[in-house]
Amino acid sequence: MKNYFDLSGKVALVTGASSGLGVQFAKALAEQGADIAICARRVEKLETVKSEIEALGVKCFTHKCDVLNVDEIRGMVKAVEEHYGKIDILVNNAGVGDATGAADLTDETWRNVLGTNLDAVFYVAREVGNVMLKNGYGKIINIGSLHSEVVMPMNTWPVPAYAAAKGGVKMLTKALAVEWARKGITVNAIGPAYFGSEMTNDILESGGFDSVAQAYCPMGRAGKEGELNGALLYFASDASSYTTGQILFVDGGWTAM
Ligand code: NDP
Repeated sequence: MKNYFDLSGKVALVTGASSGLGVQFAKALAEQGADIAICARRVEKLETVKSEIEALGVKCFTHKCDVLNVDEIRGMVKAVEEHYGKIDILVNNAGVGDATGAADLTDETWRNVLGTNLDAVFYVAREVGNVMLKNGYGKIINIGSLHSEVVMPMNTWPVPAYAAAKGGVKMLTKALAVEWARKGITVNAIGPAYFGSEMTNDILESGGFDSVAQAYCPMGRAGKEGELNGALLYFASDASSYTTGQILFVDGGWTAM
């Protein structure tokens, strides 16, 4: 039976793969046969993830990178290209959460959230995009959010900086998709609702999340580990050869109402 999601012979770079969804994404791509490159700031965590990925029978290259530093991004992408000779798949995943209300939001927090969640998504896409343009092939998957489309309901928690950045990711995805559509590169985004991770565990375990999910999420719950993999593998593989500029919300129906 044909495996539409086979990634044998491909090289995938996942940013922010020292914890959370990035680790899950890197492993899901490895399970389909892709060789992996991972980056983040915490190198000791990257080394643990590298061993777990290599145990799946593929190669894994690690590189320390702070995505708030454009020179580090350039160096990281160059190192991955030198190591593997190409980059076929980019998962633009590194990000930070923030739930500070607008009136209390400092310039520093605003810049950190926008810098990590939007500026860096562009810088990494630009650098990797130039590698993909040379090869005439690429699959870029930006990690947006439920908050690329909607904010949290009143009387829950505010997300002005986070939503501004993730909304920007949605439109950046469309802009890059159109620009590179005839160059062999697809650019799509995933918009997850809430999934357990270092970023969200406090919210999910606070007790308040369950009642919000009951009221606003048709499925009435957070996402579970593995429930993003179908969307990821669709966008990462040639199964999505005629799909570009899309954001797929994996949100239990949240954005449907
Ligand atoms: P985690 O906090 O577990 O992971 C965030 C990752 O981003 C870490 O690997 C971290 O690595 C990396 N990172 C953060 N800042 C930087 C930086 N300056 N330079 C390099 N790497 C950085 O959170 P999640 O796994 O939940 O988040 C992953 C992505 O998914 C984010 O873009 C987030 O917005 C998005 N998302 C998550 C949802 C969820 O419910 N969990 C829902 C919707 C979207 P390190 O600290 O080692 O540098």
